[in-house]
Amino acid sequence: MHFKDSIYTFQNLSNFPTIKHAVSTKAFDSMKKEDLSIHHGNLMKFGKTVDLKSIPLCMDQVHSGTVALIENDREIVIPKSDGMVTKQKNLPLAIITADCLPILFYDQQKNVIGAAHAGTKGLLKNIIANTVQQMHSTFDSNPKDIIVGIGPGIEKKCYEVGEEVALQFEKAFPTFQNILFKESKHIVKRGNESSRLHSNNNEEKYLLDLRAIAVQCLLKEGILEGNIEVSEECTQCNKETLYSYRSGDRSGRFVSVISLE
Ligand SMILES: [Zn+2]
Repeated sequence: MHFKDSIYTFQNLSNFPTIKHAVSTKAFDSMKKEDLSIHHGNLMKFGKTVDLKSIPLCMDQVHSGTVALIENDREIVIPKSDGMVTKQKNLPLAIITADCLPILFYDQQKNVIGAAHAGTKGLLKNIIANTVQQMHSTFDSNPKDIIVGIGPGIEKKCYEVGEEVALQFEKAFPTFQNILFKESKHIVKRGNESSRLHSNNNEEKYLLDLRAIAVQCLLKEGILEGNIEVSEECTQCNKETLYSYRSGDRSGRFVSVISLE
């Protein structure tokens, strides 16, 4: 990704004058209020900064596999969905996150855009496949023409999950490579009789690679590897610029937007 004036952009999506896109940072404050409702004021301010012609359309994101088809009718918040696709111009689509992956799609041939919110639950519910398939079924998008940007999210080394979640991914994506890592966690306990530190219990921990899963979901749908850009920014490691739920940002969120010009 490219970073300038506190805004992230994808190199691959920047090649097209037919769209606008951007990812906000803490410099633009949180896109959610403390009560977790959307902060339309901050969203509008960010939209103006990146020169969007109207207020970005948000979803009531619920970690589902549901993709909404956005047509002329204009709601402020699309209920209970995690993906959106549209062919409407000047109707920016927004994904609000802090650790989950924001994913932006652009079909350069049919001039269609999409956006998805993909965390552990959404990935298991096939939100990525559903978004690509919605673009294909509604607008006849050929996956080979779709350019994809996977935005900042929590990276593998920072994303420990429980065994139950690990097993769900092994079951859901048995052919995927390098999505799950098992490490032994050395639990160090202070002995009772002496102040000497010694290690007992070797417990296992699982690290989940959301980016690797997302990329393989895209490849499975026919997206070309060369058309996928993956942000290397980790939300947990970039506390100065990004919000991270796991790092304690309860309501702090940044936004990723894409709009057809
Ligand atoms: Zn990290």
